[in-house]
Amino acid sequence: MAKQRNDFMIHPLPVLEDNIVWIWVEENNAVVVDPSITEPVESWLKANNLFLKAILQTHHHFDHIGGTEGLLKSWPGTEVIASKDDLNRIPFQTTSVSDGDEILLMGFPLQVFQVKGHTNTHLAYFLKDHQNNSKSPALFCGDTLFAGGCGRLFEGSSAEMYLSLKRINTLPLNTQIFCAHEYTLSNLRWANELFPEDIAIKKRLQKVIKTREDGLTTLPSTLHLEQMTNLFLRARSLKEFSFLRHHKDHWTS
Ligand SMILES: [Zn+2]
Repeated sequence: MAKQRNDFMIHPLPVLEDNIVWIWVEENNAVVVDPSITEPVESWLKANNLFLKAILQTHHHFDHIGGTEGLLKSWPGTEVIASKDDLNRIPFQTTSVSDGDEILLMGFPLQVFQVKGHTNTHLAYFLKDHQNNSKSPALFCGDTLFAGGCGRLFEGSSAEMYLSLKRINTLPLNTQIFCAHEYTLSNLRWANELFPEDIAIKKRLQKVIKTREDGLTTLPSTLHLEQMTNLFLRARSLKEFSFLRHHKDHWTS
């Protein structure tokens, strides 16, 4: 029986240059999403007296899995959840999952989506909302969707990424988007340069400049905000999406 999400907290831990490690806390337990490095994740968990219940891995890039081995030394029983199709590139898996799977994590149902594009085996994890619960659903989308942007196409095609974003686009509007990098400012500068008349993008850019000046993270975002201001999510055709991806790949701020 699934629990209600009452004491639900997801903390951002900025690490390296622009990675965000998300730490989902329920009472004394924690789930860490894409630990790039062991420190400072381990120290943060210990300082808050938390037990590391599980690690969620969205894809195999080292700035997402690099801290897993070290964390397992301190918490050897930790569940490591990752793609069944990527057993070679994502080691230490204890629960290997595929598109459409639903698992119970800390008592809550978590849906697994395959979102190809950035890599061929990239997964997103969707934490559903419940009736009678005012808290928003959450999507851990790794390097697929960013605030104001989307991941680069290292392995997949434009068509695959376009489909992945379309799928994310069907989630509830209040879904909180927990992406793995703080790229928001650069993404919105690019979008504003391309569409200087777009008021929603301009307003968000101004807000994000202030947030970053204050030393704060701009994440999580929401699907609603992305639908208003993310050109990739707003693309109405594959052709439009491909143009945008190509344009952003060659843009220098
Ligand atoms: Zn990546």
